[in-house]
Amino acid sequence: METKCDSCGSCGMPFEKAEDHALRDINNSYCCHCADIGGGKRTFY
Ligand SMILES: [Zn+2]
Repeated sequence: METKCDSCGSCGMPFEKAEDHALRDINNSYCCHCADIGGGKRTFY
């Protein structure tokens, strides 16, 4: 069963509002902490 993407794909932070998403884009799978200013995923593993 797939879960709807309502949390960060990297750190798992739940999205409660658009501002929580990178670039405030609700279609962005990463949160504002995990994506850089270009909306890409940071590589901090
Ligand atoms: Zn995150």
